[in-house]
Amino acid sequence: MSAPILPGATVGVLGSGQLGRMFAIAARRMGYRVHTFSPDYDTPTGQVADVEVRASYDDLDAVRGFARRTDVVTFEFENVSYACTEAVAEVVPVRPHGSVLHTTQHRRREKTFLSSKGFPVAPFAVVECAAQLEDALETIGRPAVLKSAGFGYDGKGQVKITAESGLEEAFAKAGGQEAVLEAFIDFDREVSVVAARSLDGTFAHYGVVENEHANHILDVTTAPADVPPEVTAEAIRITRSILEELEVVGVLCVEFFLTRQGKLLVNELAPRPHNSGHFTFDASLTSQFEQQLRAVCGLPLGSTDLLRPAAMANLLGDMWSNGCPDWASLCALPDLKLHLYGKAEPRPGRKMGHLTAMAATAPEAARRVRHARALLSGAVLPSPAPLG
Ligand code: AMP
Repeated sequence: MSAPILPGATVGVLGSGQLGRMFAIAARRMGYRVHTFSPDYDTPTGQVADVEVRASYDDLDAVRGFARRTDVVTFEFENVSYACTEAVAEVVPVRPHGSVLHTTQHRRREKTFLSSKGFPVAPFAVVECAAQLEDALETIGRPAVLKSAGFGYDGKGQVKITAESGLEEAFAKAGGQEAVLEAFIDFDREVSVVAARSLDGTFAHYGVVENEHANHILDVTTAPADVPPEVTAEAIRITRSILEELEVVGVLCVEFFLTRQGKLLVNELAPRPHNSGHFTFDASLTSQFEQQLRAVCGLPLGSTDLLRPAAMANLLGDMWSNGCPDWASLCALPDLKLHLYGKAEPRPGRKMGHLTAMAATAPEAARRVRHARALLSGAVLPSPAPLG
């Protein structure tokens, strides 16, 4: 077992978004230095890192140069090529290993991995051209969802195929490239588990949380989810096996559909801290970002105890359509935390920040966070119950 990488060392982050920013905040709090690498400048991560390197992920000399100034490298962004992580690995360890990224950044590889290892997934078929789509629909049935195999997130490159859909058009809309056709799941709920695995194989998880999406983008997470204990146990068992099969050293999130029959199906894996784990920053003893740091530095994992039930609501760029939201009024609300990611341009659908509310129960936290967000955008919702 290699020696732990201790405070004072430098951790490199491939990617420069909000996940890297919150990672950098956690790392700097513990006395580490953080360098970030991405093609952009003045990024959410770069604003709080010690060093911001701006270069293409395909510039492997720049990648190696970046790695030489670090002690270990992790990533916050999935669409980094395997060649890039391998270039880093020539110099310092990459955690999780690039092979985890390689599997999870491509839907065909991810689905094939999951089904070959016996993890429950929605029925699916690989579609390489529009002509194959018809055959695949014979097997999978309609409605179905066609998802581009590579570089998709937040519902991008996804098309629902119904009885009326034109197949050529659907294939083109999904990106006109290799895709995965999945049965449409009329789920009861969506849940996820964020978990970590350390260098010595220790496993820690943040329990099962419930996720509501709007326009395919995560909208509100409630922690803990109100699901039967056997669903919780099964979701955690599946998550643990996935981290072990992939030999993850770091944090990974498993997103599930919970069907109306109470069965869990794995929808997606994210080999990094996840939007559905943002509540841990305020509501857990160790945040998912500190946990990522501990894992990649070979330190013992921290306690994942939930201090209070919590709920997180995303703040998308759409909220700026009537001008800057009223942050001052928001700050008057008790039990509420504001996170903004330092992004200058509030485009519609762009994740600009999030709110976390804490309360005596999870549903109450969810009511509070929705109420706070509605206040910000000037809408009037009934007040939540008085503080109890
Ligand atoms: P994804 O990018 O695969 O996580 O999909 C984004 C969202 O689209 C999911 O969180 C679901 O709300 C919805 N979705 C994706 N796949 C399916 C499916 N097979 N059946 C029903 N809804 C889906």
